[in-house]
Amino acid sequence: MTRTRTTLTATVFVAALTLAACGNEGSPTTGTGGGGSASGDAAPSYAVASDVAITGSPTFDKIKAAGKVRIGVKADQPGIGLKDAASGQYAGFDIEIAKLMAAKLGFAPDAIEYTETVSANREPFLQQGTVDLVVASYTINDKRKAVVDFAGPYYIAGQDLLVAKDDTSITGVDALSGKKVCSVEGSTPATRIRDEHPEATLVTFDTYSKCVEQLTSGSVDAVTTDDAILRGYAAQQPDVLKVVGAPFSEEPYGIGLAKGDTALRNALNDAIEAAVSDGDWKKAYDFTLGGSGTDPEPPTVDRY
Ligand code: GLU
Repeated sequence: MTRTRTTLTATVFVAALTLAACGNEGSPTTGTGGGGSASGDAAPSYAVASDVAITGSPTFDKIKAAGKVRIGVKADQPGIGLKDAASGQYAGFDIEIAKLMAAKLGFAPDAIEYTETVSANREPFLQQGTVDLVVASYTINDKRKAVVDFAGPYYIAGQDLLVAKDDTSITGVDALSGKKVCSVEGSTPATRIRDEHPEATLVTFDTYSKCVEQLTSGSVDAVTTDDAILRGYAAQQPDVLKVVGAPFSEEPYGIGLAKGDTALRNALNDAIEAAVSDGDWKKAYDFTLGGSGTDPEPPTVDRY
């Protein structure tokens, strides 16, 4: 199954239009809202808190002094964190969560400085202070908690498989024997395949979009990562790709921050809880991932 780049681009464009046509009910359609959002609806806005004080947070002190929040996000994951090449604008659920958190900390969207992250550099970026926060399909787990802290979870994904639309052989994680499976270095899905499924041949890149290119060119049999990410790629090429739909892990997404900044972690957990109860979380979800027809309950934050 070899596709030229031109065909791929055309398919992506058509898929984006198709998604835009679906829209979300109940909100005005502007056609351009959201900086490239799948829905095409007007981007939600979040009330920016005033006079926020967080005592005992070195990161918040830095943010206040700089007058901007530096947030690490993904740039190639449709529905989650996607940078529009033409406008340079980011869109996706993580971007909405980033804007929401900034608003609750007292910062408008134009005070956010986005930095592109890949899976493997999220901990180093936080440890080195390259960014203040990471909102990047970032699974909370004990290994990572040894070096960074997390607020959340704000969403629960599950590891799944993306395969060619006409593939009937890969029905789930137990059907990977002898198959070439692509994932990203530094991610929990790659680790799980390496540790628990040695019968599969794991191929890794630094981004999932490179894995998707490998799949569409026929170089690998499947891409594995979180279902929420894979659904975004499948929506871009619905005639070519499908998500198997048999999740085999829980991936609780957290907001990464510097280890030991408990005051900021508490403030972000408060912010997530407030966003769930005041409806902002749902607005953020419906505008982005909600376009795939899913309507999950927001998770309860874990104040570990
Ligand atoms: N949620 C998983 C992780 O944090 C996979 C997605 C990603 O690599 O960003 O490793």
